[in-house]
Order: sequence, then structure tokens, then C-alpha cells
Amino acid sequence: MRDIAIVGGGPAGAMCGERLARSGYNVTLYDEHLAWEKPCGGGLTHKAIQAYPFLLNGPHPKKLIRSVELISSKGHRALLALDQPIVIYSRAVLNGLLLERAEAAGCRVVRSRVSQLETSGERAKLTIGESRVEADFVVVAAGARNSLLPGTRPLARNDLEMTLGYFVPAQAEGICVKFLNHFEGYLWSFPRCDHLSVGICGSMAKHTSQELRRHLHAFMESENISREGARFYSHVLPSPQKQTLSSRRVVGRNWALVGDAAAWVDPITGEGLYYALRSGELLAESLIAHNAAEYPARIRKAFSTDLEFATRIARRFYRGRFLGGAVATRMIQFIERSPTFRALMADVFAGSQNYCSLKRRLWAQCGTTLTEVVGSLMKGQPSLAKSTSSGGPDPLQ
Ligand SMILES: Cc1cc2nc3c(=O)[nH]c(=O)nc-3n(C[C@H](O)[C@H](O)[C@H](O)COP(=O)(O)OP(=O)(O)OC[C@H]3O[C@@H](n4cnc5c(N)ncnc54)[C@H](O)[C@@H]3O)c2cc1C
Repeated sequence: MRDIAIVGGGPAGAMCGERLARSGYNVTLYDEHLAWEKPCGGGLTHKAIQAYPFLLNGPHPKKLIRSVELISSKGHRALLALDQPIVIYSRAVLNGLLLERAEAAGCRVVRSRVSQLETSGERAKLTIGESRVEADFVVVAAGARNSLLPGTRPLARNDLEMTLGYFVPAQAEGICVKFLNHFEGYLWSFPRCDHLSVGICGSMAKHTSQELRRHLHAFMESENISREGARFYSHVLPSPQKQTLSSRRVVGRNWALVGDAAAWVDPITGEGLYYALRSGELLAESLIAHNAAEYPARIRKAFSTDLEFATRIARRFYRGRFLGGAVATRMIQFIERSPTFRALMADVFAGSQNYCSLKRRLWAQCGTTLTEVVGSLMKGQPSLAKSTSSGGPDPLQ
């Protein structure tokens, strides 16, 4: 196996192309846009930076964010200071730098759309415009809207979230995230070097685009983010079900899926950049080891067991109740009042606290957290809440 074709030059395809080309494979990567402003927050967690330090150390423009403001559906606010910054890129810059690295490693980068893929023969056949090209193996890195599905099923509606947003010509220093009542998703404002990416994501099976747009406009108004001069975007984001992560086919004899096309995205936070990069790298390692079939096992060992665990928490996080209030609201109140809980959540945001061991740590710290929350309430420390207008009296207020 020498000739590899990659469809899609986002983080997953570019990383896979770089690794394979560096190991001497003949790699051709096709992308219809190349480095473009793909709808995205562009935020890379500390986990991603630790795995790929060039994303922090390189010369390309990026914004380092050291605080996240969380807002509950009732207007409670908590500020989370981060020891390690979240690094935010414009996607045109991020895709561009990853493609540059792939090219420098020897990968041929072609601006073209692949319209068809045929993998039933010995070699994979790709249709590009009027021409047909062949490869020993094809990597499908075409993102969440991918329709090239050799030997696997498409993602279902309940595996996807709808996202809407604006690139806003404004500046800010911190990330802002807001949760809504009975809503599986959240609103965000991510500051980049010269603009903000403001948006909302919500389950495609449970919410309509009108509902999302209404929430987004209300959020922008309440946070004083003007839509003047802003550019609208919409896209889909995988939010995989457990079954999809554990049993959807992602590799065949002469093909494999990576990144969003494989639905490797955190179902709670929507983080996908790290998993796109890592899956591209793990597939390349499997091919270099002449064992494409071991790719799913490598993915399971690296992260999909944790993502499967996250699917079990996701619904409880967005819909569940704790001490008489929404889980997200209680989380924000606890962050505000307990330094121990705040440190734990900072690790969750950094990606250094995985989901599999989160419950154990929460229980181990439960006594200290509650003591700190009660102590803060007894001392009458004021809340940062803007309003608590909806709902009844809140026992934590
Ligand atoms: C609104 C939004 C906000 C997000 N915010 C964050 C965030 O802050 N942090 C984070 O970690 N993740 C975030 N994500 C997720 C993240 O954007 C994705 O997980 C990531 O881009 C996946 O990378 P990928 O390479 O798999 O796919 P993509 O980045 O989607 O790349 C796919 C590429 O394939 C190309 N392509 C598609 N079809 C074809 C074809 N037929 N022929 C040729 N080329 C083709 C496209 O042009 C594209 O460049 C967000 C997603 C959305 C929608």
C-alpha cells in the first residue's frame, strides 16, 4: 500500500496526510475549499495543546484565553480562571497551518471536490470533476456533512447538533458560555484575534433552527454583542449516541473515516478539534503499522471509551436536576462558591479531567465542596447573579 488519497483537508485530513507523507507514503489530499473559515469556535483545550505543542508555539495568529464566564438559564454567573489557556484560532488560519505542515512533509494538496467514491474493488476509485483517480487506500476526512460513505451508515438526526452563529467584528478577552432551560446545547462567545465567533448548538432531533436563532439573538442582545457587520453561519456538529461510538463501522479494507466524519466529538462540550487531529494521527499510525483493522482499537484506547461515558452524562447534564435546580445552574453556583469545585471544573475545561474518573473525583470532594458552598452562603457572600427572575425561590440563593 503506497498511494493514499485523503478527502478533506480539515484538521483530521491534514494531520493524517502529514503523518503518512512523513513516513514515505504517496499522499494526495483533496479539499474543495482548502484553508477556509469553517463555522467553528476554534477553541483548543490544554489537552490538545499538550498533544500538539506547535499549536501554541508556532508563529500563526491566535488568541490565548485565561477565563471562562458561565451563565445559567436564570442568570447566575461564575468566572472560571484557567491555569492553562484555551487557544483560539480562526479556522482559516488553523486549517492553513495544518495544510502547510502536510505539504512540507511531502503531501500533495489539491483544491478539488470529490463527488463519488467507489471502494468495492481492490483499489479505491475517486471521481473528481470529469476525471477518475485510484488509490490503494482512501481516508474520508470530509467532516460532519460528509456524504461519501463506503460501507457504513450515515449519522442519524440524533447523532447531530445544529449550530448557528455569527462572526462578529468585535473584541473580547474571555470566553462566555450560557446554558438554557430544558435545552440540550448551549450558547457561546469565543474571542479570536480580530473578531468573535458567537453561536449556539442544539440537538437536531429536539430543537428547530427558529428556536436556536431566537435564543441566539436574545443572548447577543443580553450580552451587548451587536449583529451589525456580523457574518451569519450555520453548520452541523456530531453529537454521537453511545451506539454510534461503539459500533458504527469506521474502517474497511481500503477506506477509513476520521474526525467529524467518524463522529469523534465530545457529546457534552462539542469539542472536536482534538479528536479530529488525534484520529488522523491514529489512523496514520495504523496504516504505517500495516494494520488498518486495528484503528478502532487504537481509538478506543485513546479516547472513545471516555466519549462513550460522556454520552451517559450528557442527557443528565442538560436535562437533569440536582438539589431542586437544573444541573448546569447548580454547577455554576458551586463554581462560584467552592474553590475545590472550581478547580475540578477548570480541569474539565482544560481536558485534563476525563469523564470516566469524574464521578469518583466528584464523590471524593463532595464533603469539602458542600462545606465550602454552605460556608460561603453563611458568610453572606454576594452572588454574581444578574437576575433570578424565572422560577421559584432558589435554595442556593
Ligand atoms: C459552530 C461550531 C463550533 C465549533 N467549535 C469548536 C471549538 O471551539 N473547539 C473544538 O474543538 N471543536 C469545535 N467544533 C467542532 C470542530 O469544528 C470539528 O470537530 C472539526 O472541524 C472536525 O475536523 P475534520 O477535519 O474532521 O472536519 P472539517 O473541519 O469539517 O473538515 C472537512 C473538510 O472536508 C472538505 N470536504 C468536505 N466534503 C468534501 C468533498 N466531497 N471533496 C473535497 N473536500 C471535501 C471541507 O471543505 C472541509 O475542509 C465546532 C463545530 C461547529 C459546527
